[in-house]
Amino acid sequence: DANDTCTRAWARIDLAALRANVTALRAKAPGAAFMAVVKADGYGHGMVPCARAALEAGATWLGAATPHEALALRAAGLGGRVLCWLWTPGGPWRECVEADIDVTVSGRWALHEAAAAARDAGRQARVQLKIDAGLGRNGAQPADWPDLVRAARRAERDGLVRVTGVWAHFSCADEPGHPSTERELDVFRTAVAQAEDAGLTPEVRHIANSPGTLTLPEAHFDLVRPGVAMYGISPVPQTGGPADFGLRPVMTLAGRLASVKRVPGGHGVSYGHQYVTPGETTLALIPLGYADGVPRHASGAGPVLVAGKWRTVAGRVAMDQFVVDLGGDTASPGDEAVLFGPGDRGEPTAEDWARACGTIAYEIVTRIGPRVPRVYA
Ligand code: PLP
Repeated sequence: DANDTCTRAWARIDLAALRANVTALRAKAPGAAFMAVVKADGYGHGMVPCARAALEAGATWLGAATPHEALALRAAGLGGRVLCWLWTPGGPWRECVEADIDVTVSGRWALHEAAAAARDAGRQARVQLKIDAGLGRNGAQPADWPDLVRAARRAERDGLVRVTGVWAHFSCADEPGHPSTERELDVFRTAVAQAEDAGLTPEVRHIANSPGTLTLPEAHFDLVRPGVAMYGISPVPQTGGPADFGLRPVMTLAGRLASVKRVPGGHGVSYGHQYVTPGETTLALIPLGYADGVPRHASGAGPVLVAGKWRTVAGRVAMDQFVVDLGGDTASPGDEAVLFGPGDRGEPTAEDWARACGTIAYEIVTRIGPRVPRVYA
């Protein structure tokens, strides 16, 4: 139990909730395989435990950004298919081929590196081709796509690669009805047809992130790739919260009060004295700071449940700590302060923190630092 093992602060990770989220998401896309996106240390929740829980709940693919993440999944002994998508020149591609990782290429030069990695490894590279359907990040431009497809087909004939997938990533699927989404689906369908006409036989065609999985059945194709929704965060906050999509937040971030003291009115609080006590009051110190991922933007804004009520960060968030003003209420050192969680015990949610900090809940959870122990339940 986190309460017994953590004396400063902890992130409680509810793996039963994660498994239930995977089940709920799979039910939304019953004909599609499920890729659990576990990059960025499982969106801050811990990559390996979350990947394992997702596989237990029926995921058959794991999604990683970097090859090092993909290799770490294998090093932890995890099976299932693994796809990574951030190709950089000179990366550990031979190791990926040897570890049975599917790699993503967006251009001829990366395809050549994959073929070279296959030659070095003495086995075929499993490659997925990415089209830029409109996001403007990675992916071949539609004009360059036929050329990439032909080159991939030649590399298949040479026995060096096997094209296992064709995929894209949405730009605006989190904004319901956004016109780019239909356009991107059209570009993607055309790219798939061109790949198949050229003789490629991808096992999986995929484009759906969390919003696509939850709100765009026509985007499910053979596989869905939800990330944030699996961690119980709403991918379309303007449409609904997690519960509206049958999801439960997985992470609870909490700490123990490190000090509680009475101070007179006019007492400055934290660097720069941006908060000054309006009268005699009680200040409580929470031992989490921006080095732990509590945004400095939360200064004067972030909500925390302490002694039964929401308090607001008083003054600036420092590297390791911040202060809340309890007013006329009392608390004791060691009492629990909950920054965010599912919200059903009166605590704020990661979405509340995102609003307070002018960001998205993705950033709140992924930035929780390594100094905060993850406690799995
Ligand atoms: N697929 C790719 C390629 C991604 O980069 C991401 C994350 O940004 C996802 C899927 C999952 O997105 P989301 O967390 O919005 O479901």
